[in-house]
Amino acid sequence: MVNPSKIAFDIDGVVADTMTLFLDIAKNEFGLNNMKYRDFIDYNLDCLDISIEILEAIIKKIEDGTYAATLKPIVGAPAVLNRIGEGSECLLFVTARPKTGPILEWMIKNLDVDPLKIKIIATGSYTAKEAVLLQHGISFFVEDRLETCFTLKEAGIEPVLFKQPWNRKKHPFIEVESWEKLDHIIEDLSLSG
Ligand SMILES: [Mg+2]
Repeated sequence: MVNPSKIAFDIDGVVADTMTLFLDIAKNEFGLNNMKYRDFIDYNLDCLDISIEILEAIIKKIEDGTYAATLKPIVGAPAVLNRIGEGSECLLFVTARPKTGPILEWMIKNLDVDPLKIKIIATGSYTAKEAVLLQHGISFFVEDRLETCFTLKEAGIEPVLFKQPWNRKKHPFIEVESWEKLDHIIEDLSLSG
């Protein structure tokens, strides 16, 4: 049996389908219909053909929860997280968002886990993640930003890259393309101790 207290998760692009939400807000509130999920080939979003003002406005809406569209979980995430949450005292999420904002409530709503077990830490910076993870004794972190995987690895945390169009570069890490695959990996990883 794996030790779920050793694993933690990023939120956007791993648990939450934030890029689809981005596309929905772009379409509904800014009339931008031409972008596709597969266009997100760079995490910095400078791959997109939109102005920096609109880009920042959409990101702010996502962070504040001020949008009419629905943020959906990535397929399969809730089922796996529910199971992990059942067998652990704490389900830890570490996000580079500047604040927890509406995402805690979203997590509580989308998971069938005791809300008291759900812990979300917003670091405000990608490079602050490893310190938080080390403080919490985390050995494995599921992440979609490839650059962050490298810094985690240097800090002694094993990254698990969640495959997305924006992380299609060569890398040496464990990679999963779905929560079904992640579920198997979690079972296989030696998380005990
Ligand atoms: Mg992410």
